[in-house]
Amino acid sequence: MTTVKCIVNTCTHYLYGDRCSAGNIDIMHEEETAMSQVVEQTMCKSFTHARNVFSYLGSADNMNVAGTIAGLVNPEYLVSPSISCTVSSCEYWAEGARCVAEAIEVNGLHSDECQDTNCKTFSRRANA
Ligand code: SF4
Ligand code: SF4
Repeated sequence: MTTVKCIVNTCTHYLYGDRCSAGNIDIMHEEETAMSQVVEQTMCKSFTHARNVFSYLGSADNMNVAGTIAGLVNPEYLVSPSISCTVSSCEYWAEGARCVAEAIEVNGLHSDECQDTNCKTFSRRANA
């Protein structure tokens, strides 16, 4: 399984230690009609800004509850979501919206919206 490291500290799913407590994340092109060519054109669509308690309630249905509890008490515990990715211009993309990289990193410190986040591991496929 691909593991996820994330530094987006403003997301409801961010867990200290640069871990993600979501059950699944959706990595997508920023533009619906354009294939990503560079890292900055990708995004984590599962980002939800941690503005208030309602933000947490709204994203609770996509929470890895058991992993989060274990991760809260143990900073070394691997908490990582599954990935659905539609960025088919990436060399790590595979049929079925799968990512075959060993690990990915999501960046976008202090992001306000999904578009501020990126899949830093994106690497453009040669013929994309
Ligand atoms: S931005 Fe995406 S990868 Fe990062 S914590 Fe939020 S949902 Fe997880
Ligand atoms: S590395 Fe590529 S295939 Fe994997 S999640 Fe990021 S953009 Fe998608």
